[in-house]
Amino acid sequence: MIVGVPKEIKNHEYRVGLTPPSVRELTSRGHTVLVQKDAGSAIGLDDSQYVAAGAQIVDTAQEIFQRAGMIVKVKEPQPVECAMLRPDQILYTYLHLAPDPEQTKALAASGAICIAYETITGAGGGLPLLAPMSEVAGRMSIQAGAAHLEKSKGGMGLLLGGVPGVAPGHVVIIGAGVVGTNALQMAVGTGARVTVLDKSVDRLRQLDLVYGNRITTLYSNAQSIEESVLAADLVIGGVLVPGAAAPKLVTREMVSKMKKGAVIVDVAIDQGGCFETSHATTHAEPTFVVDGVIHYCVANMPGAVARTSTFALNNATIVHAVALAEKGWQQALKDNAHLKNGLNVCKGKVTYEAVAKDLGYDY
Ligand code: NAD
Repeated sequence: MIVGVPKEIKNHEYRVGLTPPSVRELTSRGHTVLVQKDAGSAIGLDDSQYVAAGAQIVDTAQEIFQRAGMIVKVKEPQPVECAMLRPDQILYTYLHLAPDPEQTKALAASGAICIAYETITGAGGGLPLLAPMSEVAGRMSIQAGAAHLEKSKGGMGLLLGGVPGVAPGHVVIIGAGVVGTNALQMAVGTGARVTVLDKSVDRLRQLDLVYGNRITTLYSNAQSIEESVLAADLVIGGVLVPGAAAPKLVTREMVSKMKKGAVIVDVAIDQGGCFETSHATTHAEPTFVVDGVIHYCVANMPGAVARTSTFALNNATIVHAVALAEKGWQQALKDNAHLKNGLNVCKGKVTYEAVAKDLGYDY
């Protein structure tokens, strides 16, 4: 198969669909890989590395969309890319169609086979092609939070780990899933005092086994959230209720009673956020202040560490890219029900139930 990797064109998107090692996985099996010139150069993946992995470098996205049987990307296709998709061409990328009727319409009109990373399931449950980005965002949340506790960033001027003779900062993590666990790991590493809250006692039990008395686990309810948040220097929001907007667990009133110069990192902002005072921000202007509390609510945190994110994403996507190239989409989907769950739009039809229902398509 001819596999095409166009350069991402969404604003401030530096990730790339395939890394040179992923290209090698395909070319070593006899597939042709076309990579657009400079597709990875912003994150240190030069064209020469792609050539060494067996790729051909082409000048334009047009040529890639014309020649490739499968397009591998990171972000949802922009309108100009949707217009270049061909019937029966495979598109393998993040799509996030439910809130995006325009893109859904354009993909249906293209006749392409559109497989969304975010709905592919895993044998062990969960969404394995979303998990790496939650790992990145979870780890980054402590880094971002620690930076914004500094005076120059508006924070109270606190070093999370403290120093001998000075108490460490107190990190409160709401939600102990992939984001929360990765935040926890980083927070413990800094030497901070850490409290983690979740509705799942099983999850808390697992963390208690690993971290013992280095952390405090609390069952999440209005009382435990209020008490924890008021005592916190840094609060991380990492809750998810699948298929629903994030619950507003921290009210405006609670925020107004928090320490001045404390920091909130609302990772769940892509689902609306779990703080009543949150609204989405960008890397260009990541924070705003409410009642003296710094809010960091960047909706695409992994974009800031595009190199790490690209490799982490490829680790999860390459296995299906190889299967699609080797077998073609029909056989690959027939052989793997988890990959089939990724099929969102196919030859003009919306094939993912939740998207079809949300956007009023026949299913
Ligand atoms: P996950 O499903 O692994 O974990 C969510 C956790 O929230 C679960 O353990 C669940 O029990 C817990 N939870 C649900 N309701 C709760 C409540 N009332 N109180 C406390 N805990 C509760 O999800 P995840 O992969 O960790 O993702 C968390 C959020 O982060 C999602 O909204 C995801 O989309 C988002 N995310 C954002 C970015 C970004 O750049 N901002 C990047 C990656 C992920």
